[in-house]
Amino acid sequence: SNALMWFRRDLRTRDHTALYHALRAARQVHCLFVFDPALLAPLPADDRRVAFIHASLAALGEALHAAGGQLWIARGDPAAAVPAAVRALGADALFFNHDYEPAARRRDATITAALTAEGCAVRSFKDQAILERDEVLTGSRRPYSVFTPYKRSWLQTAASARAFDPWPSERHLDRLAPRAGVVPDAASTDAACDFLAPRLPTLAELGFAAARAPTAGGEEAALRMLEDFEPRIDDYHRTRDFPGLAATSGLSVHLRHGTLSVRALARTAYAAAQSARARAGAETWLSELAWRDFFFQVLHHHPRLVEKDEHRAFRPEYDAIQWETGDAADDDFAAWCEARTGYPLVDAAMRQINQTGFMHNRLRMVVATFLCKDLGVDWRRGEAYFARQLNDFDLSANNGNWQWAASSGCDAQPWFRIFNPLTQSAKFDADGTFIRRYVPELAALDNTAIHAPWLAKAGVLARAGIELGRDYPHPLVDHALARERTLERYAVVKSAR
Ligand code: FAD
Repeated sequence: SNALMWFRRDLRTRDHTALYHALRAARQVHCLFVFDPALLAPLPADDRRVAFIHASLAALGEALHAAGGQLWIARGDPAAAVPAAVRALGADALFFNHDYEPAARRRDATITAALTAEGCAVRSFKDQAILERDEVLTGSRRPYSVFTPYKRSWLQTAASARAFDPWPSERHLDRLAPRAGVVPDAASTDAACDFLAPRLPTLAELGFAAARAPTAGGEEAALRMLEDFEPRIDDYHRTRDFPGLAATSGLSVHLRHGTLSVRALARTAYAAAQSARARAGAETWLSELAWRDFFFQVLHHHPRLVEKDEHRAFRPEYDAIQWETGDAADDDFAAWCEARTGYPLVDAAMRQINQTGFMHNRLRMVVATFLCKDLGVDWRRGEAYFARQLNDFDLSANNGNWQWAASSGCDAQPWFRIFNPLTQSAKFDADGTFIRRYVPELAALDNTAIHAPWLAKAGVLARAGIELGRDYPHPLVDHALARERTLERYAVVKSAR
């Protein structure tokens, strides 16, 4: 038999479920990646994600090449391009890994139905998640909506199902269809895709420019980052909340595109947890991987959360909240996006995402809460902004976490819990390291004034050569007043109960 392995969010050769099964089942395995113009069209020419995917595909192509194989690249609507590639390469089976996003699920169902009707076998696998779909359910067989009991059950199930075990695809690469000798039948791809080629087009050929600051793509780069992180696991539980430290793994972009297996991460955490020194850190880190699965399954069971015509709060009573609208709200939202709120930690965080495509988790919580609870702006606007900016943008984690901040989500922060941005700043960036890195115009301020320059004595600002309104903005809102307004705004939630 002759299989086609369709790569999507799994751009690697090691510990790869669908690739492993394809290599074991078929005599020969062809490999394919499809650029979907509908996904690419709305992106800016210098989109960092496209550059990351491109670099990762180059690395994947090289790894397949080194094993004697070939990565085929197509461009077109996958619903037509994938069946066309199956025909052109003479495959009789298609392999891919599960995706949990509603649009991807519809696409995969369409392709599966079309190919099955033609007599082509279609097989798909769990790979992105440790545990997926219905694998973790409550005693009454319903999906969990609270994280702590979910995690308990997740840990038990993962251990008993050996869900961390690798699928050693890399050991069977000799089954890849040889590079030479495969001549696709061009007629079958004519109407279905712009091209089906044995080489990766350049970014320019795809209509993109080199990106601003891409994280190094590809499997080898991901493995190096994991190695680099390993010694830091020991202290992770103590250090992960401090954006000034390089305490977290930074691996989210690799997990997003599957340049690293999530099982490999979980095995690393498990191995580290065997030593008393690293146990607390490793267990906390493993919890974060459980959060990732938690949000995948929330989206899987509640696709309405992200469907364009709905895009609802997980808790329906929160859809009654009246967010600020009109020019003032638009101006506040623009100030938030452009790091002009006058709150140094918020602005430093927004500069981090704008400049690098990454933002530290603590800061994501701070700026998201600030947008919906200090500025009264609808969380969906922030969610959409993050979706455009984040290298690790993932529909389920982004939606789940934004709804956490807005208090409308599954196991969210209570609506009356409103982060004080100044307390957060003083606690998690006490010596101003992070603020100074991204807001250098405030660098000369002392460790008190740097969190709230407008509260500093005039002399302190003058000595640092700073004039508010000229060198750095006045604060956009008074937190105490904003807090009162937010409690009133959210009162509809209480009365709906
Ligand atoms: P580490 O601390 O090293 O954690 C390891 C991995 O665990 C991460 O790479 C990530 O895959 C997973 N993880 C950690 N925290 C979470 C979490 N709260 N929810 C789900 N998974 C988690 N993460 C995304 O991957 N994509 C997003 O689009 C995204 N949007 C977010 C939006 C908001 C408002 C907030 C508050 C958080 C969001 N997160 C998102 C979660 C989290 O901020 C990032 O996963 C984390 O900062 C990535 O850094 P790291 O790889 O160094 O994480």
